[in-house]
Amino acid sequence: MLHAVEFRRRLLRWFRRHGRDLPWRRTRDPYHIVVSEFMLQQTQVSRVEAYYHRFLERHPSIHALAAAPAATVRESWEGLGYYRRAANLHRLAQAVVGEHGGVVPDEPAALRRLPGVGRYTAGAVACFAYEKATPAVDTNVARVIRRAFHPRLGGPPASRRIWETAEALVAGRRSAWSFNQAIMELGAVVCTARVARCGECPVRRCCVTGSRKSVNGKR
Ligand code: SF4
Repeated sequence: MLHAVEFRRRLLRWFRRHGRDLPWRRTRDPYHIVVSEFMLQQTQVSRVEAYYHRFLERHPSIHALAAAPAATVRESWEGLGYYRRAANLHRLAQAVVGEHGGVVPDEPAALRRLPGVGRYTAGAVACFAYEKATPAVDTNVARVIRRAFHPRLGGPPASRRIWETAEALVAGRRSAWSFNQAIMELGAVVCTARVARCGECPVRRCCVTGSRKSVNGKR
């Protein structure tokens, strides 16, 4: 893949210096990672932080969450919206306790059989909790990969290709945890949906879109 090695190197170096210190980046506890990933579906990081701590204080373990009444779980989610996530998280906790001995699975295929877990969340939990070299493509990551490697692709083939590229970028890498966090961070703060800040982007020289802008003299 064109420039993949350099892309990874530059991105990781930037992340070491500029990555935000977020509570779910300080832990590998699978339950905490699952809670953060459910909260981050459809809610911004800045809003999730306070709810994340509050939820974990009320439901300190996956066993405690599984045993909690549905109304209590919903109340703990109050203010975050999209309550279906809370119901799915509650059902996930019950499935993990009932079917997996209270241990969150570490393989994406097993994770995807749990309530509320799609392809992205399965990859994210496997990587962020267990440091597996799995791709985790959310909307931020998909946007960065598309702009950097496949700017001309569109429609359903683009999605498949983006996942393949994400997989190739992390396959067999011990740095998969950092890489996935880094590319998400880049999509959240530099290569955003609203604007691609190529002029301040660490991977500009190995990004198809960014290098075209350089040639054309645009930012
Ligand atoms: S160079 Fe521009 S388009 Fe490429 S990843 Fe960076 S911000 Fe996005």
